[in-house]
Amino acid sequence: MGQIGATARGGSCRLALTDEDHRGRELFIGWCRAAHCEVSIDRMGNIFARRPGTDATLPPVMFGSHLDTVPTGGKFDGVLGVLAGLEMMRTLDDAKVSTLAPLELAVWTNEEGCRFPPGMLGSAVFAGQASIEFGLSRADRAGKTVGEELARLGYASTTLVGGRPVLAFLELHVEQGPELEETNNAIGIVTGSSAVRLYEVVVHGVDCHIGPMPMARRRNSLVGAARVIIEADRIGRAYGDSRSSCNFIDVRPNVNNVIPGQTRFNVDFRNSDQESMTPMEADFHATIERLSGEMDMKIDVRRYWKHGPVSFDPRLTGLLRKTAGRLGHRHKDLVTIGGHDAINMNDCAPSAMVMVPSQAGLSHNEMEYTAIADCEAGANVLLASVLEIAMQPALLETGSLEKVAG
Ligand SMILES: [Zn+2]
Repeated sequence: MGQIGATARGGSCRLALTDEDHRGRELFIGWCRAAHCEVSIDRMGNIFARRPGTDATLPPVMFGSHLDTVPTGGKFDGVLGVLAGLEMMRTLDDAKVSTLAPLELAVWTNEEGCRFPPGMLGSAVFAGQASIEFGLSRADRAGKTVGEELARLGYASTTLVGGRPVLAFLELHVEQGPELEETNNAIGIVTGSSAVRLYEVVVHGVDCHIGPMPMARRRNSLVGAARVIIEADRIGRAYGDSRSSCNFIDVRPNVNNVIPGQTRFNVDFRNSDQESMTPMEADFHATIERLSGEMDMKIDVRRYWKHGPVSFDPRLTGLLRKTAGRLGHRHKDLVTIGGHDAINMNDCAPSAMVMVPSQAGLSHNEMEYTAIADCEAGANVLLASVLEIAMQPALLETGSLEKVAG
């Protein structure tokens, strides 16, 4: 998989629904068919590889992650959870093990959201947080939509997204931070996710010649954006376990000799604690209002995405903890600050995550690396936990069926 979209520095570039992502999907589907899985694709381009159970009336135990990457991504983020799932299917075939409940390996479309904001889009539609119309209409900077790109790649489908019961969803993923490595633990049991709030900000200034206009009369939207970004950084440091970043900026007209009349950018706030997220957002809005007055420039602010904080299913986190202990792996509980498909899936099925260490805490980086022994430990915890649920679905059945996706 790493050979597709390989970068010069040893990473991967498979932006969602590009030709590279398509080649990755096709390779994966070929592998799944060779492993005797039934492959289906829904209208969001989410891929499901199914291994039937002995009781066809049971909903599936689902696991998986994503194959798309950021432009300078690594080989492990997302890919580990997908390929570990495939390895599980092959291992069960080799060992001639049948499960009562079917197993489904999911590859979610546009998890990273670099090309089509927001991220985790395929799982959001599946779990009912976003409509299919919203999902298919997301556009990249060139104006191409998710729906158009799915059709171009031959992935247009009429299969309903979600709306069917899932017994449980488990996601194996690399940690993307240094906590497991620093504490010498092989396995992280993710008990939940922090709150995430995404904003789009547009500062409206006035285009003009860079020379003659006196400084006091200028309305430079890029200067306005700079002041907002610095304030967002301050807010990201001020509320306990908080984070913030601006990671995209679009300056217009972005040429020499013209003071920028309009600057658009995003701000991403995170906090593990809802109690602290509320004042963070209030501080941000008050700050925007003050800066808009001081600089005499209109500033539009729009929150376009929110999720979390989320608590994963305690029965599943308990099972993962027990399994990691039984297999002899040192483990600790974590709360994820990154976004993952399991966070969306938790809305329609009991969900949880297993994490394994990222070397030096690096991720979304071409140098991203997880040792093979750690990948193996994570895959074994996933396999043993999935088997336990798939063999005794009664453990979860009652609870999950009440929470079927809309
Ligand atoms: Zn990921």
